[in-house]
Formats: sequence, structure tokens, C-alpha cells
Amino acid sequence: MSKSDEVFVLDIGGKDNNNPIFKENKNNAFRELKEIKQELKKNNFPEKVIISSGEPTIHPNFFKIVAFIIGYGCKSIILKTNARMLSYSEFSNRLKNCNKIKYFIDVFGPDEEIHDKISNSEGSFKQAISGIRNLSSFDNEVNITIPIVNENNDKLIDTINFLEDYGISNFLFYLPETTTYDFFYKEKIYHNLKENISNLPNETLIQVGFENIPLCVFPENSYYGQKNILLKKRVYDEKCSECHKKTLCPGFSKEEFQYVDKMIIKPFTDIKSKVLNSQIRINKKSTIHIALEEIYKILFHFTEEKNIWDVIYELGYPIPLFLIIIEELQNEGLVEINGDKIKSQAKKKKPKEIIDQSDKRLESNPEVCQLLVSHEDIEKRINYITETCPGGGKMVLLGDDDFLSISLASTGLFDEIWVFEIDERIIDKINLIAKEKNLPITCVQHDLRQKIPKKYLHKFDAAYTDSPYYPNGFSLFISRCIDLLKKDLHLHIFSSFSCEMPIMDDELSVQDIINEMGLFIERKSMPANNIIPSYLAEKYSLFAKLNEIVFKNNKNLSQLDKWYLAALGRKEFLFHFLTTKDTNPIINGIFEEEIYYEDIPFDFYTNPKTVKNLNKIK
Ligand code: SF4
Repeated sequence: MSKSDEVFVLDIGGKDNNNPIFKENKNNAFRELKEIKQELKKNNFPEKVIISSGEPTIHPNFFKIVAFIIGYGCKSIILKTNARMLSYSEFSNRLKNCNKIKYFIDVFGPDEEIHDKISNSEGSFKQAISGIRNLSSFDNEVNITIPIVNENNDKLIDTINFLEDYGISNFLFYLPETTTYDFFYKEKIYHNLKENISNLPNETLIQVGFENIPLCVFPENSYYGQKNILLKKRVYDEKCSECHKKTLCPGFSKEEFQYVDKMIIKPFTDIKSKVLNSQIRINKKSTIHIALEEIYKILFHFTEEKNIWDVIYELGYPIPLFLIIIEELQNEGLVEINGDKIKSQAKKKKPKEIIDQSDKRLESNPEVCQLLVSHEDIEKRINYITETCPGGGKMVLLGDDDFLSISLASTGLFDEIWVFEIDERIIDKINLIAKEKNLPITCVQHDLRQKIPKKYLHKFDAAYTDSPYYPNGFSLFISRCIDLLKKDLHLHIFSSFSCEMPIMDDELSVQDIINEMGLFIERKSMPANNIIPSYLAEKYSLFAKLNEIVFKNNKNLSQLDKWYLAALGRKEFLFHFLTTKDTNPIINGIFEEEIYYEDIPFDFYTNPKTVKNLNKIK
């Protein structure tokens, strides 16, 4: 797999139509389109481009530049803008379908007074907010960048709260390079900010990052990707040599370093940081991308000392790749090698006992195709998921009539479990049990036919879904999983799906859908039984009676019985997908087509006429 993490900074010239008090607004000339094209060509048409300048959107050839970059096949464009031009809908609408653009918009405060004072441009706040409002109907990722200066330092959280109403949940703070730092460190502003951020409610899923502020100043920094893109002359403390996040940390500017209380510099030496750092180093050397979870799995494979050849034999990695991985793990102090013996220094967190709350599940609702899986099979799946995702993190479930969230949360291996569920009865029940058992579960009532609200997009490490069996339903649920997962390679999607005989031919189309979404099938396994309601087995206990009611005398069957008789008996397989560089949802907007088989399955098996009609439709 090719790797393309390099980000190219394209300066298109021109000055800022704001005049921020914290930066020198250089009067650069706009660069010629021809020259810009040549520069991109010279740099082999980079896959990731940051368009920077005084203010890119006022460049007279702005749209031509964007069209050229998209046209040559660039995968991602970061547009740093003050959003004033975006307030003109005829301007912003021209960008509506450019979904490769990620916006980074400067907002200086929660109101006109503060923003315009810092931007030094009257009316700039109104225009920026109107631009953000115009973008809110787009599918693009929108990030807000907030400089921390004397004038807004007590309004930083207010700015977040204000913009949350516009569906924004990604915020990136930075210290302008030309500012003085004494107010930030001496007045302990960073300390207040840290506290206020940690008090933001969990349900908002607000992601706060710090572009050029050392990671140990704000250990919960959610943004790593920006390091060293635009930063120059950074310095580190001598303690930093022990830090396992140094490769990710932007360090300090020289001036900033003078004001820092050295006590706040605390090297990261925890296992997570070491694993993260080793992953970066491994992927610099390896031609194949290695995911974080794979590194955890490797590490946990030899918590007891093992012979090196036994490990090679058991893990299944090509030997050169194995050597790269182990060497980097050793460099991070995660592995001890002693001649032909190898031992991991990382201890695996032992999962707690899985709680069984299956007796509290609700009666199936055929309207939303709820078939319950036996708890025994749910347990097998949970064991598989916890083995596969040893790093934990945030798991999202789409549909949860089986209460898998409760059993999964009870293992204690995931930091957070989120459930998107249409049925309020299920949500109420899960919330009740989660509260009672003190489990980290958050439920969101949501009809997946509607778009996922922006604030939840790309926030999760793994996803599980129990989609309808109808190909449309499958496409929709998996597309929404992709929307919710972070944009990273080799993330896990577990999907419970009936794809076994006797309707294999009919569901073959699902394999095309999987390919179309650029997902890799890691495994298809663990057939699970759907629970047969006892009333059904009692009602039709004799073969002759069952045969008669299904084939000869089915006119008066209730909808529920009809549905059960068609749906039960098959087994639900668990698909395990991995995301790839080509992974993309195939359903993006609101989806209005049918996503469930109606009562066709019963007729499909019992009424040859219907089958003929279905064949004609095909
Ligand atoms: S210890 Fe040093 S390298 Fe590590 S996060 Fe802090 S400043 Fe950065």
C-alpha cells in the first residue's frame, strides 16, 4: 500500500482582508495561476495540500486553483480562511460539492466586539459567522482555529459554546508566533483553559486541539497531524529526550520557552504514548501500513517470554516486516530481546466478566427488523471484538436490540461506548441499565436514514452494526459506520449480517457493495442463532402443523408470525471489515428508499409466483 502522509503547503500569495492585531499583514502580491500550477507539478502533484496565503478566498483565481488541485487527483485540501467571502452564498455555493476541502476558519471570540477588535476589521465577525452558517449545510469537515491572545483569553470556552450551536465540534487553539507568551504561562491561563475543557460535557463530543502548544501542556490534545507544517525554530527542554511523544510534539518557540515554568514539562512515558510513537516510526520504515491495534496485538502475543521463531511462526508477518516492528518496539522500551528470546513489557488489561442482560431485552419489532441473537453468541462476538481491539478507545454501535453495548461495556476495555438507535424503548432500557451498572454508555436516538449530525462525524475508533439484511439497509448502515469512524487506515467495522444459504444468490450483491465502499473483508465468521420465541415453538410444535400453516393455510397468519417464520432459522454471520485508503460511504445524504424487506421473504419462500415476479424485476 502506498503511503501519502506528506502535506504540501501551497502559498498562493496576497494579503489578509482582516488585519489581525497579532500578525504582520504582509502586502504580498497574488501569485500567478501558471506559476502555482508549475509548483504543484514540480512537487509531483501532492495528494494533500494546504492552501495558505494572507486570505486564499480573495485570490482572483481562487476557484481555478481549487479546480486544478481537485482535477489532478488531490485527495485532501486544507483551506485556512477567515470565511468572510463564504458569507456570500453565490461564492460559497460554488464550493458546495468540493467535499475534499477541509475548512480551518479563524474565529477570534464569541461576539462581534471581541472578534472585530482582534481582527481589526469592522464587520468581519458577522461575515465569518454567516460564512460558517453557509458551510453548515455542506458535508465538509469544518474546524475552528482560535488564536489565544490577551484580548480573548477569558472568552475561549465561550467561543466554543457559541459555535457549538452551528454544529461545530472541532476546535484548534494556537499561540500566534508574534504574540508575547508571559500572559499565557505566567497568569496560568493554560491551567484555567485545561480545567474548562475537561469540564465540557462528554455528550458534546467536542474535540479540542492545540496546534503549536506542547502536548504535555494539554495532554488531552486531539490533533496531532499539524506538527511542523508551518512551525519554525522550535526548541525542547532536556527532559524532552525521555518523552515518547516528542516526534508528535511541536515543542516551544524560543521566546515562549523563556516564560514556561519548567515544572509543567512532563515527558510522556506511558505505554499508549510508546505504542503511538513506535507506530509512527514503524510506518516510516514499512511499505505496509501497520495499525495501532496490530501493534497492541503483537505486543500482547508474548507477554510471557517466547522463542523468536515461535513468534514469527504464530504471528504471520513477513520476516522483514516483523524485524522492523520488533526493532522499533525495542527502541521504545516495549520489548526486551535476549538472544533468541523475546518478551513484551506491556501488560494486557484483563477484561472483566461479561454482564448478561438478555432477559431485559424487548420484544422484537418487525417494523425495524429486530431479531434477537442468543446471549451465548453475543459473548463469542464480544470476546472476538476485545481480542481484535486491544487498544480500546471509543466504540460506536448502530442499532442495539441485543444490548451488546451493555455486555461490551461491562468488559471495561473500551473508554466509551456510543449507541445510535432508532427505538426509544431500547434507548430507555440501555440508559437505565448503564446507570444502574455504572457503564460508560451514551445513547443517541437517531434514524440512520437521516444524515449523522456533524458533531459525531469521524470521532470513533471502531464500529459495530446489526444492519437490515436488505442490500439497501446494509449499504446505509455501513455507510453511516464509515461516517462515524475516524479517518484512518485499518479501523474495524463489525457487521452482523445474514448471508448464508438459502438466499445466498440474492445477497451476492452485498459483496459488490463491500467492494464499492473500499472495505477489506478481514473475516466472515461466527454464525449466530436468532432466538426463537417460545410462543412460536409452542404454537406450531408439530411438524405437520408448521408445514400446514406455512404452505397451505397461511392466509390468516399474523404479520408477526409471518415475519418470524420467514426470518428465523437462518444464522447471522459477523463480517469483520477493515478500512482502507479507498474506504468511502456510498450513501451520503438523506436516504429515502426502502431499507427493509417487507413481507416479501415469506412469499419468496412460499409463493413461486412471487419468485417469478422478483426474477422479472431483476
Ligand atoms: S515533554 Fe517535551 S517533547 Fe514531550 S510533550 Fe512535553 S514539551 Fe513535548
